[in-house]
Amino acid sequence: MNNSLYDVIIIGAGPSGTSCAYNIKRLKPDAKVLVVDKASFPRYKPCGGGVSPEVANYLDFSLEPAVDYKCNQVVMVANGKEIETDKHELWMVRREVFDNYLLEKAKSIGVEFIANCEVKDIVNQNENSASVITEGRKFTGKIIVLAEGGRGKLAKKLGMLSSSTVLAAMEYEHYTSNLDGKLYIDFDYNSSGYAWNFPKSDGLSLGIGGHIKGKEKGNVGLPKKLASYVSQFDVSQFEKSNLHGHPIQLFSGKSRLVCGKIVLIGEIAGCVDPLTAEGIRPAIKSGYLAAQSIASYLRTDKQKCLDDYNLMFYEQIGSDFQRARFVSFLLNQYMHKLLPILSTERAINAFMDVFSGKSSYKAKINLKRAFKFCLRVIF
Ligand SMILES: Cc1cc2nc3c(=O)[nH]c(=O)nc-3n(C[C@H](O)[C@H](O)[C@H](O)COP(=O)(O)OP(=O)(O)OC[C@H]3O[C@@H](n4cnc5c(N)ncnc54)[C@H](O)[C@@H]3O)c2cc1C
Repeated sequence: MNNSLYDVIIIGAGPSGTSCAYNIKRLKPDAKVLVVDKASFPRYKPCGGGVSPEVANYLDFSLEPAVDYKCNQVVMVANGKEIETDKHELWMVRREVFDNYLLEKAKSIGVEFIANCEVKDIVNQNENSASVITEGRKFTGKIIVLAEGGRGKLAKKLGMLSSSTVLAAMEYEHYTSNLDGKLYIDFDYNSSGYAWNFPKSDGLSLGIGGHIKGKEKGNVGLPKKLASYVSQFDVSQFEKSNLHGHPIQLFSGKSRLVCGKIVLIGEIAGCVDPLTAEGIRPAIKSGYLAAQSIASYLRTDKQKCLDDYNLMFYEQIGSDFQRARFVSFLLNQYMHKLLPILSTERAINAFMDVFSGKSSYKAKINLKRAFKFCLRVIF
């Protein structure tokens, strides 16, 4: 079995993996960085493709060529009432284009990439390195980054995953020229989540997501609910075989993100907004934060530099997501009482302020406001 040596090996070429790879090379150009992915690229990924323009803060190149459509008309539907805003911009991307674009950018500054390369195991972890085992090959790295996405199995195998909150999400691509260019978020189709219609230049990404509670695992009736939702958008033939989806690992605040020389980023680190289920921007941001720590570690050899990623993550992502978890919990428990509040101008603007990256949960939710809100909802 061949054994190749790297400074950093990143497993997964989704937005978290490529953002991390790119930023490591940017900060430490002489680092030997390898990204492996079990898929061949470009690859399809079930996703609504809604991205906050704030992602531009974590990459030093223009993302414009990978943006399919810029949307600034948003309609929120709740309790049969529609409310519309045009004050926010969200980018719409096709993941096969967007992810491949990020990967090509990383390759252009010297990141090595191997496609069709599934990592089966991580072994021989010691103080200074660990080895990655694939079909017939072995790669050794000073640091191994798991960017394997929500369906990844390696972090669990290594005992790094805490029990996290899981959301089921399903997606249907409808290609049409009959477009109004508006983005719809609809709370009337699922009692523990929302349905969406994200416009693209050549069609609609229609989807639905909801929390999986207790015994419901794998049976939350999403295909039926989505079929009912899409019927209002002139989708003449709804092919169930074209439905794609998977559980999303939401932020729990409990996962250990650094264990020796292994680092977790992106969705496998629970880096998904517990309220909106937005995962692309946090994935890119976590890759960016991990890259700072990894570059410092490679310069100094000090474990503390690597461990600092845990802290940075909780300060810059986790603490905000704690607040989102709280709102999401209330929404889950008291959706029927909250529906009238959701279809107001204040609610849509608050939701979009956060989703578009204009504001944060921290800025929106303080203790006094949260207390007043709870009283109003519960009693
Ligand atoms: C239906 C649906 C709709 C969504 N809509 C949105 C949205 O509109 N906006 C938004 O921001 N987020 C959305 N999300 C969430 C978002 O897609 C994810 O959170 C995001 O892709 C996470 O990025 P990542 O880099 O962590 O992982 P991923 O993008 O999942 O990439 C992981 C990569 O790792 C590879 N891999 C896995 N295991 C191995 C292995 N053992 N060896 C080698 N390679 C491996 C995979 O092939 C994959 O390419 C949606 C999710 C779903 C399911």
